[in-house]
Amino acid sequence: NDVLRLENISKTYGKDGTAAVPVLKDLNLRVGAGEVVALVAPSGAGKSTLLHIAGLLDTPDSGRVLLKGRDLTGLSDKLRTAARREELGFVYQFHHLLPEFTAEENIVLPQLANGVSEKISKERARDLLGRVGLTHRADHRPAQLSGGEQQRVAFCRALANGPALLLADEPTGNLDPGTSDRVFDVLVSLVRETGLAALIATHNLQLAERMDRIIRLGEGARAEM
Ligand code: ADP
Ligand code: ADP
Repeated sequence: NDVLRLENISKTYGKDGTAAVPVLKDLNLRVGAGEVVALVAPSGAGKSTLLHIAGLLDTPDSGRVLLKGRDLTGLSDKLRTAARREELGFVYQFHHLLPEFTAEENIVLPQLANGVSEKISKERARDLLGRVGLTHRADHRPAQLSGGEQQRVAFCRALANGPALLLADEPTGNLDPGTSDRVFDVLVSLVRETGLAALIATHNLQLAERMDRIIRLGEGARAEM
C-alpha cells in the first residue's frame, strides 16, 4: 500500500570527470498511504537530490522509483511529466505564486491546465482556501498577503489537482519561528484531511517529531527505511 517506494537508489554526480561526488548509495525509502514522513538531513547530505528523484525531475544511476506500485524507472520524459502532473504536488521554501494573479486564480490555473472546468476549479480552490483559513483572502494578490498566508496559498496550489503524494522542501523555512509552527500545523492538517501521503524535508527537529515517521539522511549518504 505504498504511495512512494525508492529501491536501492544510487546517484553520483560528475561520474565522467575526476571529481565524482557520490551522493546517494543504495537508498531505500517508502511512504505509505496517508503517511506524513519527515526527511531530516544535514546540508549536503543529498536531500535535494532525493526530492528531485522522488519528484521525477531527475533520474538515479541505479535503483527503482515506484509510485502507487507502478515502476517509473526508465519511462520517457513525456510519461514522467504526465505522472508528475497527475500524482505529485510540490511545495518549496518560497511560494513561487504568480504575482499578477489572485490567491484563488493561483489555485485555479493548474487545474485549468489539467483540463478541469472553470466551475469545478473555482469550487475546489475555495474549498482548499477555506481549509487553510484564507476564504477572506481569495481575491488578494500574493504581495497583499503575509509570508504565512502566501505559503498557505502555495499548499492549496500543490493540492489543486488532487495528487497522491506531496513533496515539500523546507515548506516553512522562510518564515519566522512562531509563524513557521502555525503554518506547519496547517500543512499537516491539510495533508491529513485530504488523506494524501507526504514527504516533508525540514531542518526543524521539533516539527519533524510531529510527523508519523522520520527518515534521516546521514553524512554517509545512506538512509534507513
Ligand atoms: P542537500 O540538498 O542535502 O544540501 P544536494 O542533494 O543538493 O544536498 O547535494 C548533495 C551533494 O551533491 C553536495 O555535495 C552537492 O555539492 C553535490 N551536487 C549536487 N548537485 C550536483 C551537480 N549537479 N553536480 C555535481 N555535484 C552536485
Ligand atoms: P501571519 O504571521 O499570521 O501570516 P502577519 O502577522 O504577517 O500574518 O500579518 C497580519 C495580517 O497583515 C495578515 O492578515 C496579512 O494578510 C496582512 N499583511 C501582511 N503583510 C501585508 C502587506 N504587505 N500588504 C497587505 N496586507 C498585509
